[in-house]
Amino acid sequence: MTVSLIGVYGASGFGKEVMPLVRMQYPQFSNDSFVFIDDGQAGTLLNGYPVLGYAEFLDRLNTDKAVTIAIANSQIREKLAIRLTQDGIQHLNIRANNTVILDEVDIGEGSLFCSFTCLTSNIKIGKFFHANIYSYVAHDCVIGDYVTFAPSVKCNGNVHIEDHAYIGTGAVIKQGTPDKPLVIGKGAVVGMGAVVTKSVPAGATVIGNPARILEKK
Ligand code: UDP
Repeated sequence: MTVSLIGVYGASGFGKEVMPLVRMQYPQFSNDSFVFIDDGQAGTLLNGYPVLGYAEFLDRLNTDKAVTIAIANSQIREKLAIRLTQDGIQHLNIRANNTVILDEVDIGEGSLFCSFTCLTSNIKIGKFFHANIYSYVAHDCVIGDYVTFAPSVKCNGNVHIEDHAYIGTGAVIKQGTPDKPLVIGKGAVVGMGAVVTKSVPAGATVIGNPARILEKK
């Protein structure tokens, strides 16, 4: 890869976890090739790396720059991804060195797979997907754009997850069938530890075991 400056966008909790993965993926780069980008914390140091504001990152003289967006909020991720593309910055695909990916897996740009994540076979995933530690996606799943898996999400086979859905820590999603996949609708939120046994409508939040819709008060 012809890149001379690598940015981890988001100098917060998740960014701190992602920076070491990025460094491990590009061992040939010197330490000063890595920076955080953060619009709220520019001018500080985080774990020894400088935190640049976005304008400052763009102003750096390096010609080839690439970024991973390490921010769990998918709406922010989309906003930043569009801006980075407009500014001609490359999007990185980050894989922890123990991520397992089996056969016929198609993954869009800007993805981020943390340690101990697994994708089995025949899976399609859209852009800017995040799989936090210990998550898996099983066979024949179809995942949209800007989907976020918190740690330890267990997504079984034949599940379709639409754009911007957020799946909380430790959630378990029951498998669907080829003719009737279990569908998590656009922008839905699955609460931590939920056991999802049936499809979730777009925009709904579900919690519990078996997962039920949390009615807004
Ligand atoms: N942030 C940013 N630009 C934006 C929105 C957010 O730089 O347009 C930064 C924000 O300042 C914060 C980080 O992204 O430092 C998000 O951190 P948070 O703890 O909310 O999320 P997490 O690390 O858990 O994904």
